Amino acid sequence: MKPMRSRHSVDTYTEGVLSGDRVLLGQAITLIESSLDSDQELAAAVLERILPATGKAFRMGITGVPGVGKSTFIDAFGSYLVAQGHTLGVLAVDPSSNLTQGSILGDKTRMERISHHPRVFVRPSPSGGSLGGVARKTRETMLLCEAAGFDMILVETVGVGQSETAVHDMVDFFLLLMLPNAGDELQGIKKGIMEMADGIFINKAEANAMDKARIAQAAYSQALRLFAPPASGWHPQVAMGSALNEVGLHTLYQWMLDFQQKTWQNGYWEINRQEQSIQWLKDTILHRLSHIFFESPAVKAHWEQTQAAVTNKEIPPVKAAQQLLRLWQEGYRQPGIDKPEGQGA
Ligand code: GDP
Repeated sequence: MKPMRSRHSVDTYTEGVLSGDRVLLGQAITLIESSLDSDQELAAAVLERILPATGKAFRMGITGVPGVGKSTFIDAFGSYLVAQGHTLGVLAVDPSSNLTQGSILGDKTRMERISHHPRVFVRPSPSGGSLGGVARKTRETMLLCEAAGFDMILVETVGVGQSETAVHDMVDFFLLLMLPNAGDELQGIKKGIMEMADGIFINKAEANAMDKARIAQAAYSQALRLFAPPASGWHPQVAMGSALNEVGLHTLYQWMLDFQQKTWQNGYWEINRQEQSIQWLKDTILHRLSHIFFESPAVKAHWEQTQAAVTNKEIPPVKAAQQLLRLWQEGYRQPGIDKPEGQGA
């Protein structure tokens, strides 16, 4: 990422975001996405300031295989939500986006109607880095959008890898989009993803696909009943419809309202958010620790030879890891030689 040409003060970013200034919101997100230490410090200060104004949005994750209709759906459902009076932030977690250019999630050109709407803010997936890094940036971007006053956040991801777990861990409600031709193979969607879903929407249920869609609806309803009852107390639902023809969107909105009412009442909404915060804390510590470890002089000095020893089967990986960790700890105890605590992440 190129350095930003100019930066504002923490006050300017904070006040800009809180007043809903879209230019400053965009710039604050760019700050979050920057890998420069100085930008990260500034971003952390802004996040701390805006934190009290966050948490009020309904956060919805949307996943499904490529081609199922996620962008079309978000364009249609987003328009529906705006018509209900909501303001909408659309984000994406797609760690592969820098590899598969052209299929970048959240791409504005794929959501023609909402991307130009004054009450919608679309931000493509941050590029580069590990899933953990991309997820962290998206999570922080979500907080900035909430502070800027958006009351619905849609986070899109491709349902083929690990990223849906990351998205599931940052949202209140997780929606899985499926196609009408429910085969035994469940369309390449892993059982684990179905288990995470609070709702399944069978898209493209139109014309001659209606019969297949009905069969799919029954099959998925049946499959969901086999899972243990979710901690939310909400029973995951299956609906069918068409993003293209805007059919079935009202049912989904009703699910959201029911889910929110139910989980507010039974306390799950708050507990889930608290657990997500703790998970976020742990993820951040692990991420930072691994950075500090791999960047420490002691580990760097031995990294090449350790890798060679492991690949040549001279030493088992577990023992090699123990040795490196010991070296790192020794360096830590002698700050004159090795200062892992003094290094930025
Ligand atoms: P994504 O890869 O999951 O984001 O899918 P897209 O939204 O890009 O849609 C993939 C293709 O399916 C496009 O050609 C869409 O026009 C089409 N599509 C999406 N939703 C529907 C739908 O409800 N009905 C029909 N017939 N086509 C749809």
